[in-house]
Amino acid sequence: MRKMNFTAGPATLPEEVIEAAQAALWDIGVGAGILEISHRTPLFDEIMHETQAEFRRIANVHEDYAILFMQGGATLQFCELPMYLTRPGDHIDCIHTGFWTRNAMRDAVHFTRVHYAYDGASSGFEHIPTEDEIVYSVSPRYVYYCANNSFMGTEWQHPPRHAPAPLVADMSSNIFSRPIDVNAHGAIFASTQKNLGIAGCCVLIIRKDWLDMAEHPSMFDYRRQAEARSMLNTPPVFAIFMLRQMLAWIARHGGLEGMLERNRKKAAIVRQAIDETGGFFRHVGEPQSHSLMNIAFRSPSQALDDLFVAEAEKAHMFGLKGHRETGGLRASLFNAMKTEHCQSLADFIREFARKFG
Ligand code: PMP
Repeated sequence: MRKMNFTAGPATLPEEVIEAAQAALWDIGVGAGILEISHRTPLFDEIMHETQAEFRRIANVHEDYAILFMQGGATLQFCELPMYLTRPGDHIDCIHTGFWTRNAMRDAVHFTRVHYAYDGASSGFEHIPTEDEIVYSVSPRYVYYCANNSFMGTEWQHPPRHAPAPLVADMSSNIFSRPIDVNAHGAIFASTQKNLGIAGCCVLIIRKDWLDMAEHPSMFDYRRQAEARSMLNTPPVFAIFMLRQMLAWIARHGGLEGMLERNRKKAAIVRQAIDETGGFFRHVGEPQSHSLMNIAFRSPSQALDDLFVAEAEKAHMFGLKGHRETGGLRASLFNAMKTEHCQSLADFIREFARKFG
């Protein structure tokens, strides 16, 4: 029996996508499954081509940007971007909103200097800064931020507006959950295991005029990857196939506007239930910074949080334990999460508060 899966990623997938994968594992129309064919076949070439074209169409990505399917997860981009984009003497600005910007900068400092234009540590990372709280440096190479902080459940409602250099965004936990202003960015990257399928692929959208003519080791060379249409070596075939299925599913459900409407509705169902418990449960993060993707919340004690997780499992819901650094509770409502499951969780939250409050 499939349960209600609120895990923060790899995360729940649409049933139609799982069914398409099941069929393709057995025979993708050539007498063998998707895992058994060469990436150099016309069939895979077509999958690759369609995936890139559909990705471009759905997110309205201008031809001035390359779309690359990288390996090494989002984490490899933490070092690859500064390694590729900065030169000796350069620095970057970071808008620090928590765990993922910290990890990204820990790797970036191997290649460049970092100026913190905002440091959210003082607000316990419960807050996405307003424009006047951000103090940029002079001439950074780029301004780095994380669009959705899956660990605290905070999300930028729009990209920073007054950055003195192009933005570079980690959208791993909210890509394609809402329309994206690609043109405000020099580069956007996201691993695919939350909203775009399974682990193994990281999508990178990058300005073509940022593709460097200098030589780099091949796996770190965005220009060569772009020229080879992300097939410099064997690409993550199955992750790309699943991305193709997810894009078709997103298109069938109204594209990015459709996703936004659906995600707003789902988050409102769960957040309203938390609000209605009269303070028994409380949201982590301030309301203006709340994420549509990850709802972090707490009961009055760790013991009750643990009991909530245990009781939820009895009701066929799992993945509700908070991030390992923050504790508490967290429900992840990525694109594929069904509205009915959000309703079941909301009912469960109300019932739990009534029983133990
Ligand atoms: N950035 C963010 C915002 C994430 O949520 C995650 C994964 N949870 C990562 C980066 C790391 O992704 P990966 O494991 O694919 O390297």
